[in-house]
Order: sequence, then C-alpha cells, then structure tokens
Amino acid sequence: MSDNIDNRDDVKKENEYEDVCFMCRRPESKAGKMFHLPNGICVCDDCMHKTMDTVSQFDYQNLLNNPTLMNELNKNSGMPNIGFVDMSGFSGNDGIPNSQKIKKKKEETKIKPEFNIDNIPAPHKIKEKLDDYIIGQEQAKKIISVAVYNHYKRVKTGTMDDIEIEKSNILMLGPTGSGKTYLVKTLARLLDVPLAITDATSLTEAGYIGDDIESVVSKLLAAADNDIERAQQGIIFIDEIDKIAKKKNTTSRDVSGESVQQGMLKLLEGADVEVPVGASSKNAMVPLATVNTRNILFICGGAFPDMVEIIKQRLNKQTSIGFDADLKDKWDSDPDLITKVTVDDLKKFGMIPEFLGRLPIICALKGLSKEMLVQILKEPKNAILKQYQKLLALDEVDLEFDDDALEAIAEKALEKDTGARALRAIIEEFMLDIMYEIPKDENIGRVTITGDYIRGNGGPRIEIRREEMPKAIPTKAAEE
Ligand code: ADP
Repeated sequence: MSDNIDNRDDVKKENEYEDVCFMCRRPESKAGKMFHLPNGICVCDDCMHKTMDTVSQFDYQNLLNNPTLMNELNKNSGMPNIGFVDMSGFSGNDGIPNSQKIKKKKEETKIKPEFNIDNIPAPHKIKEKLDDYIIGQEQAKKIISVAVYNHYKRVKTGTMDDIEIEKSNILMLGPTGSGKTYLVKTLARLLDVPLAITDATSLTEAGYIGDDIESVVSKLLAAADNDIERAQQGIIFIDEIDKIAKKKNTTSRDVSGESVQQGMLKLLEGADVEVPVGASSKNAMVPLATVNTRNILFICGGAFPDMVEIIKQRLNKQTSIGFDADLKDKWDSDPDLITKVTVDDLKKFGMIPEFLGRLPIICALKGLSKEMLVQILKEPKNAILKQYQKLLALDEVDLEFDDDALEAIAEKALEKDTGARALRAIIEEFMLDIMYEIPKDENIGRVTITGDYIRGNGGPRIEIRREEMPKAIPTKAAEE
C-alpha cells in the first residue's frame, strides 16, 4: 500500500519536470510537444520528422539485396549486424537526473478581466472603471470610453447597414507624466486585450537604421503570445508621436519624421502585415505570420510642447478682429488651453494631413495641478501611499501621512515639472530611511509623516506600540 503511494508520488514529481527530446536534447518548452515512445523515451516533433524523412529516402531494399554493399558497410563501420537496438537499457526519459532537468512553468493564475470585448459595456461603465485608477482628466476619459466602445462594437459587427463605421484611432496630447501611458495600460488591462507600446523616435522608414514601422505589430503579436486572432484585436500605443513632426526647413531626406508618418498611414488604416514570429527582424530565420491591422486600435500620444503657443496664436488672431482685440493675454493663464486643440493646430505643428485623417479622435490631457497630485497620492486603487502602508503593515506598523505632508510632496513634484512621475521618486527618497529604521525597533507602532519632515525641517512622528489589552475571558453569562 505504502509502496503504491510512493510510486504515485514519484509520478507526480516526474510531472513537475519537462520532457527532454532523446535526440536533440531540447526541453519541451523549446522543442514543443513530444512523442512518447516505450521505455519513457521522448522525441520532439522536429526530430521525429527528420527521422521519418531520412528513413523514407533511404533505399533499404537495394541495400539488403546487394550482399557486397552490405559487407562493405559492416566492414567500414566495424559493427556487427545489429537486429534491434535494445532500448530498455536506457533508463526512462534519457536518464537525466532531476537536478539537471528544467521544471515546468506553473500555469499562471489568470485574473478575471473586468470587461469582455465581445460584449463591451456602455461607455459610462468603462469610464467608471477608469475612474478607479485615473484621477481627473474627465474629458479625456469620456472621449476614450466612447472611442473604445465604438471601436469594439465595430470589430464585433464588421459593418453596419452597409455604412462602414470609421476606425476610431486616437491621438492623445498631454504634458509628460499626465497619465497618457497609464490610461492606455489601464484600458488594455480592463479589456484584457494585448498591448504593445513603442516609441515613435525609434521608428524609421524601412531600410534605415532603427526599427521599421511594422515592428510594432510584431511586438503586439508577442504580447498576444503569438495568437494572431488576439493580436488583431489589440491596442498599439505609439508614444512621443510629436517627435516625428515634419522637420521645418530641411533639405535632407527626412527618414525619421515625415516619412515615418507616411509609412504609418497604411498601418493605421488597416493592412496585412507580414511579421516574424518570435523575433523583431525579418532577416532572422523565423516563420512569418500575416497580421491584419484593420481591427487594431492605434493610440498615438505626445507632449506636443509648443502646442499651447500655436493655440494661443490662433485664438489671439480670432479675437484681434473686432472689439475683442484688447483681450490679447486672455489665454495666458488658461490651464485648459491644450484641450482647445484643433486639426489645424496639429498641422501647423508638423503633422501631415493624411496622418491626422487616420486619427479622427483627438483628446487632450491637462497638466496636473497640486490638488490632483495629492489625490493621485492617496486615491487610486493602487495608490503609492496605499502600497507603502501595506508594506509597513506587514511589520505591524501603521503608516500615516498628514495633509501637510501630502501637500509638501505635491509641491516638490510640481517643481520637477514631470507630472505625477516625480511623486514616486520623492516618496522613495524619504521612505528609504523609514523602511531602514523602523524594523530596528519592535516597539514602534505608528509612524506619521509630516510636512516638516518632507521639507527637511524635522523628523517623522513616531508612536510606541501600546501594550495589547489582555483578551477578556468570556464569562458563562456572555456565552449564553
Ligand atoms: P505620460 O503622460 O508621460 O505617458 P505616464 O502615464 O507614464 O505619463 O504617468 C506616469 C505615472 O504617473 C503613472 O504610472 C501613474 O502612476 C501616474 N499618473 C499620471 N497621471 C495620473 C492620473 N491622472 N491618475 C493617476 N495616476 C497618474
């Protein structure tokens, strides 16, 4: 009985390891599915096919009917005639000790996606979910929720009443650190679609040094675990799109600006693209797959640094006609100016009309204010403060930030002018000391970070753990 159990344990242990091909020694994760032969021998698909091919090309009949050839062969190889190779001499699965085998990867537990793109929820539901993670940017979240809703509706139905719905690729403007990438990442996670993020500055026209434009599709295919169907419904985010604006006053060929915009036209609209599977270069000896980009949602993002000036100029021109002329500096203090951007402004910036025509939805993210930065610190589902609080809670220490501290952090972040990106760096700087010192003393029960501590005028407030109250022994009366 116990023997039986041991055996079963052995089988279980054995299954933790990958099978290894008897011939080429590659493990299952590299060579693919194995053929299981008697005596626990495994042969991969490639080796099995090669063997079969060799066997089928070999003229055995001629060899066996020709005794002189047979003798010659035996003499040369110095081997006696071997009838059968006794495979039982080889111990199971190559005789490789477990210590040298590769353990199988554990199946990742998949988090249930919030939405199903086959049955996409209404835009207000999408926005509600985005609200959990992204602070402010109300208009942008609204525009994107509607665009994504329409896009996946279009993907599902194909066409509607013979009128083909236009593809809703998105152009997203906003200063650095305002949440462009974060918004797209959150969206892809909620929708459970693959996402590829690339930087427009690394793209050049095919044939030049740099990634060619189609390499983004190859990235998407990799993000979709080489599942072409899934990749075709994914999202591609191209960041720093403002860096490929048409160069002004240039006589040389513009391989990384205007021509990249030209090169992207077909991709944005929908084209069959041949991409290498599992490599980023077409020159690699890997199979090619055809991916259609018609249903891929393209989102292009950029900071467009001088855009505000262009918008201001346009608005001032409008108001300088007639009796509004005296309000010339009216727009100077408007923080939402970026949201007034038009296609003409973008053309003026250097984006070509054909390119803008394929990004019909324009949304702008505002620069983050001090209040928004404070909210970002504490409110989102995975807010930075919550993360640190959880970390210290593992040591049974309460971590608190008083309101003055949050403001001081936000002020420091505003000075750096990199949006919310600065927050983490600032917090990490002073949390390092806290995380180093606190575990030294087991009596510490609560740490409160104050504004003075952030500004360098004092230390954090530390409270000693109170003795735990002895648990009341339940009396009989209470039990009843
Ligand atoms: P960019 O606009 O330059 O692409 P990111 O999206 O990379 O900026 O933002 C950097 C980080 O700042 C994000 O990882 C996110 O944690 C935080 N962040 C930025 N904007 C917001 C926001 N509106 N709400 C919540 N977090 C934000």
